[in-house]
Amino acid sequence: MRCCNCGSEMIEKQHQTYHYLESGLPNVYLQGITVYECPVCDEVMPEIPSLRKLHLAIAMELVGKPDALSGTELRYLRKEMGVQAKTFAKMLGYTPQHLSRIENGHEGISEQADKLTRSLFLMRRIEEASLRNQLDEIKNQLDQIFASFRDRLRKHSDRRISINMPAFMISEKEENSLFST
Ligand SMILES: [Zn+2]
Repeated sequence: MRCCNCGSEMIEKQHQTYHYLESGLPNVYLQGITVYECPVCDEVMPEIPSLRKLHLAIAMELVGKPDALSGTELRYLRKEMGVQAKTFAKMLGYTPQHLSRIENGHEGISEQADKLTRSLFLMRRIEEASLRNQLDEIKNQLDQIFASFRDRLRKHSDRRISINMPAFMISEKEENSLFST
């Protein structure tokens, strides 16, 4: 593979940990991943077989965390749901300006809006899963997540989110072919 920066041949390194800042979140780390490093300009490129599955796994980590969502995390979940800021503001009962201040970290999120965001995401997820006959797969996750809903959320923390990459080695192409029949 060639470096997108300088065109040099990149070196493959397996079983690495990659700080996944491309997610837009400050604290996501991909474990056991293959990366390509440029020996000339130090550019690093991760190999991500199924971006969609990875982004879903990160979203499920956020939905299940026991502490409050940050504005950045709220925006991440909104984008994963494919909902426009204006529409999402309405769903949460905010003005678009207020939602924008929250997403940019200038204002906190109420506990209600936090839990509503997680619930909206889960409803979307259940809808998708039933279309793909994957409901069994998310039942355990749901039990765990609803348990965390019974308690008050703790104060937000940027604790590390680690995603175990070998679990995502099935490529999107293979995955789609599983559901095409
Ligand atoms: Zn380079």
